[in-house]
Amino acid sequence: MSYDPSGSLPASEALFARAKAVTPGGVNSPVRAFNAVGGTPRFIRSAKGAWLTDVDGNEYVDLICSWGPMLLGHQHPEVMAAVSAAIARGTSYGTPTEPEVELAEELVRRAPVEEVRFVSSGTEATMSAIRLARGFTGRDVVIKFAGNYHGHVDSLLASAGSGLATFAVPGTPGVPASSTELTLVLPYNDRAAVEAVFAEHGPRIACLITEASPGNMGVVPPLPGFNRFLSEICTRHGALFISDEVMTGFRASREGYWGIDGLHEEWRPDLVTFGKVMGGGFPAAAFGGRADVMRRLSPEGPVYQAGTLSGNPIATTAGLTTLRLATDEVYAHITHAAEQVKAAIADSFTAAGLPHVIQSAGTMFSVFLDDAPVTDFDGAKRTDERAYAALFHSMLDQGVYLPPSAYEAWFLSSAHDDKAIQQIIDALPTAARAAAATQENK
Ligand SMILES: *Cc1c(COP(=O)(O)O)cnc(C)c1O
Repeated sequence: MSYDPSGSLPASEALFARAKAVTPGGVNSPVRAFNAVGGTPRFIRSAKGAWLTDVDGNEYVDLICSWGPMLLGHQHPEVMAAVSAAIARGTSYGTPTEPEVELAEELVRRAPVEEVRFVSSGTEATMSAIRLARGFTGRDVVIKFAGNYHGHVDSLLASAGSGLATFAVPGTPGVPASSTELTLVLPYNDRAAVEAVFAEHGPRIACLITEASPGNMGVVPPLPGFNRFLSEICTRHGALFISDEVMTGFRASREGYWGIDGLHEEWRPDLVTFGKVMGGGFPAAAFGGRADVMRRLSPEGPVYQAGTLSGNPIATTAGLTTLRLATDEVYAHITHAAEQVKAAIADSFTAAGLPHVIQSAGTMFSVFLDDAPVTDFDGAKRTDERAYAALFHSMLDQGVYLPPSAYEAWFLSSAHDDKAIQQIIDALPTAARAAAATQENK
């Protein structure tokens, strides 16, 4: 069934009402709720290739891709076959299994890590990496950047304090001040701020964590040399450099953002966190890095970390199969599809008089509705959220499911074929005019 723009949404509406009665906001992760754009989230019944089908039978080109993981699109036949075969053998044993070893070997081959430990979510990966960094260095202080998201770890749900080198305050109710009083939050891409806090707090700093290329405030790549600078200043002060590749890993490029940023350079992160693509659509994530650091983890070392479903055989089979299928051709396809979509955005937004900046990190991109390039969170916040909401709903009405927030990357997959790309391109001019109209009567 194809999309019917005149159709109402009785099934999604009814499910959302039921969901809200039993789940806060009707969703199990806040951004799904459409709070930023208004309206009713579509309840998806099935997905295949580049397409989502909702419970009312409407079809949409999927630009969320499960927030990154579905690099190969939905129901890739080889991933489905491998997962089905794994399920037929049993679903969880609480013992070591072969797929875990194979996936770990694949990560070690592709990414700048010597050893890895599996967990079930990106949040667990960053939380565990920070504990390990503190355990390894015997220090307490953690540096992060504003607008970088590392999951809902207490110590990282922090807002900058009153001055640059002052400690952070909780970013949400429920996080005690004692959880953020060892966190420093700095403006992204700001070398001087990093130098200042290392000068003041150097001997106390356990680690600095940064997205390899931020994608959670929209796509805001590091300025040239910034990651290398971070790595070197950490090394100089005996702190660990944690590169969070949960979003970019095996997505921005075959290796992750590292493949773009540092493959031939003489530096590497001490620890790296992974998730999203490496789980192939299942709950799997990991952290890894230098062998001497990783060996401080229990049971080999004293730093405790554990997980009942960590390295689950179904999840690791899905991840392993996805990574094995993620060849150079897959990234070339996604790059080409992204170029087509970005060109159509530029044309239609310009024609509509809608200010915009398109920013990319490898195959990832996002669109800011403002006219200045964005290098940090303050810049990202200049985007016109109201215009984005109009853009979003017009695209949805035309059968294209964008991320329901102005601060997210638009994800494509190797299953986005000419038909899917054309549907996006055809929808953009009307959506751009709808967005521009919100700015005329400001
Ligand atoms: C999604 C994300 C996380 C959190 O992963 P979850 O699996 O949602 O806990 C952490 N870091 C980055 C960069 C992410 O994009």
